[in-house]
Amino acid sequence: MSKSIEPQQSINAIKAMAAAISEQQDYLSALDTSVGDGDHGHNMAKAMQDAAQQVIALKEPSLEMVWRTTGKAIQNSVGGASGLLFGAFFTGASRTLKNKEALTVTDIADMLLAGLSNVQKRGRAKPGHKTMVDALAPAVTAAQTAVDNNLSLVNTLQQVATTAMHGAESTKNMVAKRGRAKFLGERSKGFQDAGATSMAILLTAWANSSKT
Ligand code: ADP
Ligand code: MG
Repeated sequence: MSKSIEPQQSINAIKAMAAAISEQQDYLSALDTSVGDGDHGHNMAKAMQDAAQQVIALKEPSLEMVWRTTGKAIQNSVGGASGLLFGAFFTGASRTLKNKEALTVTDIADMLLAGLSNVQKRGRAKPGHKTMVDALAPAVTAAQTAVDNNLSLVNTLQQVATTAMHGAESTKNMVAKRGRAKFLGERSKGFQDAGATSMAILLTAWANSSKT
């Protein structure tokens, strides 16, 4: 079990994220069809494939470069809410990585928090607004708890992923206050948010890739 994550492992994590999103593309678009315009799976799959290609092509990658390149690739790949906001997550996370050679559990908590802050700065969504923030905010808390409890890196990422998945599921009972779904008002209730689900899938893929 590794104690830290080096650039190559981050590249593997981004590749695993891209593969997991591609696999779930139709499901993600179906979720977005219920309360949005149905493009979310396609947007995310294209964005993550672009990101994976670009990080694989990096010469002498650093940790910061891997996560920043991912953010920029997502932002350039798609318009719409997900391009801007998922890009903001990775870009925000990368800002904590300057001059870091390997990630510790504390670094992961810092990355997730900085990613969340950047998403909220751009999108102004709070927990309960039925967005990706409802997967990410509890995941940040889970990471901080993992630091306090001295969990291993693999277990930390696992806790983060499980918490994010529960957060995504919790959006089912929420009324949307941000994104296209907000135009449905009360009728947005009963559907799980697509972006929150993507966020949980990304974090789950990261956790799974850290085990190998
Ligand atoms: P679009 O809404 O432009 O079609 P997508 O369908 O790709 O873009 O993404 C929709 C997802 O984006 C939503 O499910 C939600 O999780 C997320 N989202 C929308 N607006 C916001 C916001 N202001 N803050 C955070 N996340 C948001
Ligand atoms: Mg959409």
